[in-house]
Amino acid sequence: MKERASIVVEEYLQLIYSLIANGKRVKAVNLVKRLKSSPSTVHATLSRLQRDDLITIGEKKEIEFTPAGFDKAEQLTRRHRLVEDFLCNTLGISWHEVHKHAHVLEHGLTEMVEEKLAEFLDFPKSCPHGTPLPGEDSHLPEDMCCLHDMEMGDVVEIVIIDELLEESVDLMKFLQDKNCTPGQQHTVMEKTDITKTVILESENSRATLPFDIADKIGVIKISST
Ligand SMILES: [Zn+2]
Ligand SMILES: [Zn+2]
Repeated sequence: MKERASIVVEEYLQLIYSLIANGKRVKAVNLVKRLKSSPSTVHATLSRLQRDDLITIGEKKEIEFTPAGFDKAEQLTRRHRLVEDFLCNTLGISWHEVHKHAHVLEHGLTEMVEEKLAEFLDFPKSCPHGTPLPGEDSHLPEDMCCLHDMEMGDVVEIVIIDELLEESVDLMKFLQDKNCTPGQQHTVMEKTDITKTVILESENSRATLPFDIADKIGVIKISST
């Protein structure tokens, strides 16, 4: 097993990768917030990533990958999503909690194990939460948009629960309990700017989701009334 320090480095790379994929400009302050870590710890780790030539930090304090950092982050992200698929669809571990177990296992995978695992799983295109493996984005529906952009009366099918939401096991359990998982269809019953919530209803569930969560759920519109 790797020493703790390199595991931390790998976790930072993955988080930066997910934030950038989410269209965010990433700064140290975002990582402090997300990791619930102290600014000094985050700055020390970022210095290490800079020293190892994995990231650069620009004048506006924006964090960007170097080509080597990007490759490493992609590889780790691919491993993470493959392991999630294995844990969920082969070992039968619950959908809402595979993310945290994958975060532990992914660091121990060698290139050979990664290749064999991908083959064993028949080369999945996405993780169980719908996020494509790096390089597989073209498999996403072209008309996918975020749940927040839907209107009252729209019937939607969920495609992606964003990786950033996976960090909260409680939230993922809530989404699973409310049938808010990829492939499930829901009607948008209400969208209110006052409370900043979207209410979804499916055959046997009703879920109230704040806009900041609806922003991170990718859907396709099936029909509208
Ligand atoms: Zn995950
Ligand atoms: Zn996932």
